[in-house]
Amino acid sequence: MIDSHCHLADDAFQSDLDEVVARARAAGVSEALCVLTIGEDVEFSRASRITRSWPAVRFAVGIHPHVANVWSDQAALDGDVGAAVTGPIAPVALGEIGLDYHYDHSPRDRQRQVFRRQLHLARRYGLPVVIHTRDADADTIEILREERDGVPGGVFHCFSGDAALLDAALDLGFAVSFAGIVTFPKGRELLSLATRVPLDRLLVETDCPYLAPVPHRGRRNEPAWVVEAAAAIAGARGEPLEVVEAAVAVNFARLFGQNVASAR
Ligand SMILES: [Zn+2]
Ligand SMILES: [Zn+2]
Repeated sequence: MIDSHCHLADDAFQSDLDEVVARARAAGVSEALCVLTIGEDVEFSRASRITRSWPAVRFAVGIHPHVANVWSDQAALDGDVGAAVTGPIAPVALGEIGLDYHYDHSPRDRQRQVFRRQLHLARRYGLPVVIHTRDADADTIEILREERDGVPGGVFHCFSGDAALLDAALDLGFAVSFAGIVTFPKGRELLSLATRVPLDRLLVETDCPYLAPVPHRGRRNEPAWVVEAAAAIAGARGEPLEVVEAAVAVNFARLFGQNVASAR
């Protein structure tokens, strides 16, 4: 099993990272994509410790829409993203990037600018993208339609949208990743959407330390529990867990397996 989106550099994991990794491996979670936020230097400083603890971890780096307001200057953005993607962490994806109109931590026009520019940089460096979108369906799709040419694919992470957004994401050629929300009583509709995703576009994730799945709700989430989302989806699809697990492994390898940033 693979956790395609986790935040192991979060404060929540710094006291017992080795135990968290040991539990993930014991649960059969062989790989993970760890997301770092550009501008959060403390997260970057923890990357080598994460790699020591779990050598199979790969990294994604990006400017989260929450902090888009920091980058008013395009040259500074280009410089910071360029340094992060070509740096020693050797990320396999640019993300998470996108739009969050639920929290509106940054002005929406700035979020759109920063999202657009990072799609441009994903193209320049040949990296797939990890999309975060919340309550911003129309703008997310419009920007992706305009900017996706030359971007080597990507994933809508922690998908929580409706059928229209799902169809648009698939139509754009993106993979769709589901977190533990599909195990919640309130997640039934989302779970039924997960049954509509073609197997060759499906990913699962924890988005830990947030969103602990049933039966762990209310606790700190961790990569070992990605199995709960996968099991819920397999059950709803009427397929063996092994089928979902194998599909996720192939999809993850295809998207994040062989990318190294290369300036074009
Ligand atoms: Zn996110
Ligand atoms: Zn995240």
